[in-house]
Amino acid sequence: MFDKQGRKINYIRISVTDLCNLRCRYCMPEEGIFKKNHQDILRIEEIEEIVRVGAKLGINKVRITGGEPLVRKGIVKLVEKISDIDGINDIALTTNGTLLKKYARDLKEAGLKRVNISIDSLNKNKYEAVTRGGDLQRVLEGIEAAKKEGLTPIKLNVVLIGGFNDDEIGDFIKLTIDDEIDVRFIELMPIGQASTWAKERFTPNTIVLEKYPKLVPICKEDKGSPAKYYRLPKAKGRIGLINPISSHFCRNCNRIRVTSDGKIKPCLHSNLEIDIREFRKLEMNLFDIFKNAIESKPRKHNINNHEYEPIIREMYQIGG
Ligand code: SAM
Ligand code: SF4
Repeated sequence: MFDKQGRKINYIRISVTDLCNLRCRYCMPEEGIFKKNHQDILRIEEIEEIVRVGAKLGINKVRITGGEPLVRKGIVKLVEKISDIDGINDIALTTNGTLLKKYARDLKEAGLKRVNISIDSLNKNKYEAVTRGGDLQRVLEGIEAAKKEGLTPIKLNVVLIGGFNDDEIGDFIKLTIDDEIDVRFIELMPIGQASTWAKERFTPNTIVLEKYPKLVPICKEDKGSPAKYYRLPKAKGRIGLINPISSHFCRNCNRIRVTSDGKIKPCLHSNLEIDIREFRKLEMNLFDIFKNAIESKPRKHNINNHEYEPIIREMYQIGG
């Protein structure tokens, strides 16, 4: 389906839980979050129905995210149900990777195609510090498990944080030389925990190209991906730059989001939300709710200008 700006919307990102086994400093409060009542979270069957209706409206790509999606009970069953839906030809998962070694095989068998794994440092102590206790080794084992099961192409997400990991850009780039892995640097966004962070932390992604001018732009872009891709000469993998702050990609936005408590978010950087359960109480069918949500998608975000209204949701609620 096309929205009012003529953008084709074919991608849904679903957050299946707010909970997480890590406490990344820019994302989660140190003490964790208040656990919602079971009935306030979408059931596996409800998520399946949302995707089924989305598929009727032209959605063909699904990403499961969170919080940490692998702490959600029934996650493998959900992947299996979604992969059975006619019209869905791509199911991916964004994860911190710590539980991937345990789940990679089951997820692959259930129909998962690929994974994005978040990893903000390759240094054990720094990783532990930014995640407040995470174990880098488990993530590395998760990456290996994903490779072994063919959950590929694997994409590593690295949130670039000034004064923290900008000295590791080269180490991340090296990972792409011999492996068909994409490393994607993401600009830190002033959302939730990071909304009060010092200016110096918000390093623009342009520094990647300044430090590594040998990176060659890849002309053939991934359609619908917010990343601009580059490659070191002869490297197998790619470097992606995701620049929501320094150059937004609203014009090509093809996505819609659903939070774990059942709100459709037509735009990551807008507070507009459509409460699926409330509309259903008004006897509105899911098809129309979904269609209206797509139609209400804002033209662009205002993150860089004075009209910007801080986002009330935290990233662990939206799923990135
Ligand atoms: N737990 C999973 C993970 O970490 O991959 C999935 C959810 S997490 C919210 C999704 C992505 O959002 C991660 O790559 C994370 O680094 C990113 N993220 C969280 N807060 C962010 C922020 N303020 N700015 C930029 N990216 C952020
Ligand atoms: Fe958890 Fe992902 Fe947020 Fe880190 S970024 S706290 S892993 S939800």
